[in-house]
Amino acid sequence: MTTRTEDLKEMKELVALLNRYADEYYNQDNPSVPDAEYDRLYRRLKELEKQYPEDVQPDSPTHRVGGSGKADLEKFEHKIPMLSLDNVFNDDELSDFVNRVAGGLSRDEREVEFCAEPKLDGLALSLIYQNGVLITAATRGNGRIGENVTAQAKTIKNIPLSLKGDRIPSYLEVRGEVFMLHKDFEAANEFFRKRDGVKAKLYANPRNAAAGALRQTDPAETAKRKLTFNAYFVTECVGVELPDTHYDRLMFAASLGLPVNREIKFGKGIAFLREYFADMQNRRMDLDYDIDGIVYKVNSTALWDVLGFVSRAPRFAIAHKFPAQEQITTLNAVDFQVGRTGAITPVARLEPVQVAGVTVSNATLHNVDEIERLGVKIHDRVVIRRAGDVIPQVMRVVTEARTGNEKDIVFPTCCPVCGSALERMPDEAVIRCTGGLSCKAQLKESICHFVSNKAMDIRGLGDRNIESMIDLGLINAVNDIYHLTLEDIKNVSQKTDDEPNDGDSVNADSVNAGDASSEDSVSGQTPDGTGMFDMFDMPASAEKKEAEKAAETAGDESGEENGTRRAKKAKIIGEKAAVKILASIDDSRTRPFNRFIYALGIREVGENTAMILAREFENIYELMSADTDRLLSIKDIGEVSARHIVNFFREKHNQIIIDDLLKSQLLGGSGVIPQKVKPDEADLERIKDNPFNHKTIVLTGTLASMKRDELKAILQGYGATVSGSVSAKTHLVIAGEAAGSKLDKAVKLGVQVMGEDELLKILGELESL
Ligand code: NAD
Repeated sequence: MTTRTEDLKEMKELVALLNRYADEYYNQDNPSVPDAEYDRLYRRLKELEKQYPEDVQPDSPTHRVGGSGKADLEKFEHKIPMLSLDNVFNDDELSDFVNRVAGGLSRDEREVEFCAEPKLDGLALSLIYQNGVLITAATRGNGRIGENVTAQAKTIKNIPLSLKGDRIPSYLEVRGEVFMLHKDFEAANEFFRKRDGVKAKLYANPRNAAAGALRQTDPAETAKRKLTFNAYFVTECVGVELPDTHYDRLMFAASLGLPVNREIKFGKGIAFLREYFADMQNRRMDLDYDIDGIVYKVNSTALWDVLGFVSRAPRFAIAHKFPAQEQITTLNAVDFQVGRTGAITPVARLEPVQVAGVTVSNATLHNVDEIERLGVKIHDRVVIRRAGDVIPQVMRVVTEARTGNEKDIVFPTCCPVCGSALERMPDEAVIRCTGGLSCKAQLKESICHFVSNKAMDIRGLGDRNIESMIDLGLINAVNDIYHLTLEDIKNVSQKTDDEPNDGDSVNADSVNAGDASSEDSVSGQTPDGTGMFDMFDMPASAEKKEAEKAAETAGDESGEENGTRRAKKAKIIGEKAAVKILASIDDSRTRPFNRFIYALGIREVGENTAMILAREFENIYELMSADTDRLLSIKDIGEVSARHIVNFFREKHNQIIIDDLLKSQLLGGSGVIPQKVKPDEADLERIKDNPFNHKTIVLTGTLASMKRDELKAILQGYGATVSGSVSAKTHLVIAGEAAGSKLDKAVKLGVQVMGEDELLKILGELESL
C-alpha cells in the first residue's frame, strides 16, 4: 500500500512526464516513447486522479487536448473547440460505453444506432469553406487554438480547393484526419535514406510523418511529402439544411467532393460494433494506411446534444483502440543467426513484452547497417514494433533511458556455425557465410534443394527424413547422400513434432544460430529483399498441420493428450522404402550437367543460369576455375551471379564436397557423373519456352497458394527478374488479393497483369512438361 504522500508525488511526476511526452508528440512530431507507454502512464494518472479528485493538477493532461503548437506557425482560434476522444481498450470497456450511452438516452442498447469508422492514425484538421471555396485549414492544437496550415493543406491533392455540386453551403466546416499512405511513408523514408545514408533520421511511423509534413513552415516542404485527407465530422453548415444522421452528413460532404473513408458503416447495438471491430481488425493489414482502432459515434446527431460532452471529449463517441503495435522493452543480448542462404542476421534477444497481442522475445536487427543506423547497444531500452504477421522490429532506442552500462554490439568475423569466411557484396547490406554446402545452418536446406525434382530428383528423401538423417549424423553434406547404405536408411525414424505451439507467443528458442530445427520456422525477407532469415516458430495452425502430416505419414492415430493434439513418434523408414530411396539415389548419378550445377545451390544460380553454364563449360572443373571476367564474358551472366559463382567455388569446403561427388565409387567417392553431352532437352524446352523467361515481373498483393518468396524463387528459376516496383520496364505484374498501388500503377502504365488462377494454370502446365 502506498501512502497519500507517495501517491501525490507519483501524480506530480506523471503530469510532468506526460506533458513532456505530449510536447514531443504534438509539438515536435518526435515522440520518444510508444503510444502504449503514454497510454499506460495516462491511465495510471487517471486512476490516481479518481482517488484524489481534490488534488488534480491544473496542468494535468487528462483535462487538456493536444499541445500548444509550433511557435513559427500562425495561430487560429476554433469557433467550436476541437476535442479529443475517450478510449476503450477491451470489450468490457466497450460494453460500459454502450450501456452509458443507452442509459443516457433511456433506450435499449439494441435500439441505439451507431456509425463505425476506422480510427485513422494521423492528425486532425479543420477545413473551412466559404461559398464553396477553401479559406482556412487549421490543426487541432490545444483544441481551442490551433495552427493555421491553409497553405500547407492546399498542397494535399485530395482536399478540394472548391466544392462541387449545386447545394453549396455559404459556410461549411468539416473536420477530418490527415494521414500518410504506406507507399508515401515508404517513399518519404526512402528519400531520406538515399540522401543521408546510415545517418538518415527516418520518420518512426506514418503518423509522425503526417504530422511532421503538415506542420512544415514552408508549404513547399509539405508538398514534397504526400498526404491524404479523410473527412469524419461535418461541424457547421450554413445555407443548406443538413441531414439528421452523422452518416448522411458525411455522404453530403462526399457529394461536395470531400473525401470520406469508404469503410464507414452504421448499424445497431453492441453486436454491430463487435462485428465491425473484428472485421476491421482482420483487414487492418490489407489497408493502404495505418489505423489504430475504430471510432464509434451515435448516428443520430439530435442525440449528440442529449448526451453532451465531458471536459475533453464528446459522450456520443468513443475510440476503441487495437492492441498496441509498439512497446518498450530491454535488449538483453544479440545472437547471430545463419539463415538458409547463409545470410547472417543479428537477432535481438528481448525482455519478453506483449506487442499487438503476442509475447515478443526477439526481433530482427536485419544487418550491420541497421545496427549502425539505430545506434543500438546491448542493455538499451528499445521500441519494438510488430504489425500483423510482420516480424517484430526494433524501431528506435530510448536514448534518454541509457545508464552508461550499455555495450556495443560486435559482429562476428567468421560464420558462428561453421567458422567459414564471411562475405559482403558491395551492393548488399547482408553479410553471408561462404560455407555453402558444409555449413550446418544451411545444410538441410541445401540438401532439400539438391534432391528436389528439378535438381538431382532423388525420390523418397523428404524434409523430415533429411532432418532425421542430419540429426543422426548420417548426412553432413550433400555428398554423404551417395554414401548411405540400406542399413543406414531403413532404420531412420522420421522426425515429428512433439509439442504443438500454443500459438500465443513468438518464441525465441528456434532462432539459435545453427539450430537445424529453425528450418521449420517462419522466415522473412531481409529489408533489401536479398536474403532470408528465420525469426520465430511456425504459427500454431501451420505447425499443427505439419504435426498432423507427420502423424499421417507414419500411419499414426494421433490421439488427444491433455486436450492438446500431439503427433506420436513416427515409424522408421523400413527396408522396402529404403531400397527405393537407394535406387533413386543411384539413378541420380547420371543427371544432366545443368541439373547438377543447379543442385549445388549457388546463390543467384537458378535453373536458367545453370543451363547457360552447362552449355558454356565442358565440365565442372572448367566452371570451377572460371574467374569473374570469364563468367562476365558469357551473355546473360550478370555481375552478381558471377561473383557468387566465383566465391562458391573458391570455398575449400565446397571444393572437397564436389571432389567427392565426382570421384568414382571405386575410389570411395560418390560416383556422380554429370552428363555434359546431353543437356536435358526437356529442361531446355521448359526453361526457354516459358512466359516468364527474361521478363521483369513485379509481385503484389497476397497469394492464397504460396508465399511471395516461394513464387519469387520459382519465377527466377524460369529465368525471370523479380523486381520490387512497377515501371515502364515491367513486363508483368502478378496480383494477388488486396493488391494495392502497384496494381493501380500497372493498369495506368498498361503493363500486363496476371491473377493467381492464371498464374497457377501456367505453372501447372510448365511443371508437367
Ligand atoms: P486520439 O488520437 O486517441 O483520438 C482522437 C483523435 O482521433 C481525433 O483528434 C482525430 O484526430 C482522430 N481520429 C481518427 N479517425 C477518426 C474518426 N473517424 N473520427 C473521429 N476522430 C478520428 O486522441 P488524441 O488526443 O489525438 O491523442 C491521444 C493519443 O495520442 C494517446 O492515446 C496516445 O496514444 C497518443 N500520444 C502519444 C504520445 C507519445 O509520446 N507517444 C504523447 C501524446 C499522445
